Amino acid sequence: MNAPHPIAAFCHNHPHRETASRCMGCSLAFCRECVTQVERRMFCAGCYKTYTGVPKTKNRDWFVFSVAAQLVAGLAGLWLSAYVAGKILSKLPASFHEGTIWKRLSD
Ligand SMILES: [Zn+2]
Ligand SMILES: [Zn+2]
Repeated sequence: MNAPHPIAAFCHNHPHRETASRCMGCSLAFCRECVTQVERRMFCAGCYKTYTGVPKTKNRDWFVFSVAAQLVAGLAGLWLSAYVAGKILSKLPASFHEGTIWKRLSD
């Protein structure tokens, strides 16, 4: 990660954790866990609350939700393509199913 300006090597809250970015509010260095991105700007928990008026956890919850939604959508897509493939295979002539490769797939 290339920071535009030199910043402290360790998080302001966690002296043993490496700095991920600098808070745009207080200019202190923080690790990945301690900063939240708002409109392309990074804020520490305290400044984030001041800036948005929303506790940091709300943003986290939404992030977890969006990841879960993407996962469900991905699984649904997989299931759908498997379902469509199965439909196509079942519509093929019976002689086609005699082939061992298709038999193995349907099992
Ligand atoms: Zn701050
Ligand atoms: Zn930290």
